[in-house]
Amino acid sequence: RLEIRDFTRRFDGKAVVDNVCLSIEPGHVTCLLGPSGCGKSTTLRMIAGVEMQDSGSIYVDGALVCDTVFRVPPERRSIGLMFQDFALFPHLTVGKNVAFGLTGSGADKKVRAKALLDRVGLAHYIDEFPHHLSGGEQQRVALARALAPKPKIMLMDEPFSGLDNRLRDGIRDETLDLLKEEGASVLLVTHEPEEAMRMADEIALMREGRIVQRGAPYNIFNAPADKEAVAFFSDIN
Ligand code: ATP
Ligand code: MG
Repeated sequence: RLEIRDFTRRFDGKAVVDNVCLSIEPGHVTCLLGPSGCGKSTTLRMIAGVEMQDSGSIYVDGALVCDTVFRVPPERRSIGLMFQDFALFPHLTVGKNVAFGLTGSGADKKVRAKALLDRVGLAHYIDEFPHHLSGGEQQRVALARALAPKPKIMLMDEPFSGLDNRLRDGIRDETLDLLKEEGASVLLVTHEPEEAMRMADEIALMREGRIVQRGAPYNIFNAPADKEAVAFFSDIN
């Protein structure tokens, strides 16, 4: 269980993340949902450890991961990352991209990479270079790469926004299945209510740096906390 307590980050004196508390239950998908500029990506980067919070702390299963004096470095947080531009390394084959973050013998790395590529239906591309693949295929390779080191927690920042509409639903469902199989807890950032409704076990609704409401998707959808939240959800058909 990942717990974020009282995260705050200021830029030029303005709190873009303002006392945010979040928890991510094991095996659950939690969606951090909110309009552009509300502070979602900043929150995610601080959890990953690639950006420093001004105050606040993170605990995993009760153990301190970071506060303002103590920090476990990003590579030791057992956190997988996937961003919108999921950039694969263009000079590495698909197989080597997936194996990139792994330790151990070359043979072991190859076995794990092959298994994950099999799982996403792309094992036949193992020796190809990324430019040979479509956007949707590259996205699946990026997911395989992020899951290869068996992270306990996956942080995903709008990972589907570069994909065309026809592909997106299928890839969302496949991604959910694979994340559940691998047993990862997920924090997914999105500005699209529809995506959160489709993917989340729990939604944390964010606005202007604050969490304004938390709960199961249908509870939030049926009873938004205030009129801004009603307006935000009204785009969904
Ligand atoms: P989007 O949905 O558009 O990706 P977001 O919710 O992810 O938005 P953030 O990227 O976290 O929003 O940005 C929140 C606010 O913090 C924005 O107003 C942004 O301009 C500001 N901000 C982010 N990083 C910096 C920085 N390094 N310096 C100054 N301001 C920043
Ligand atoms: Mg963002």
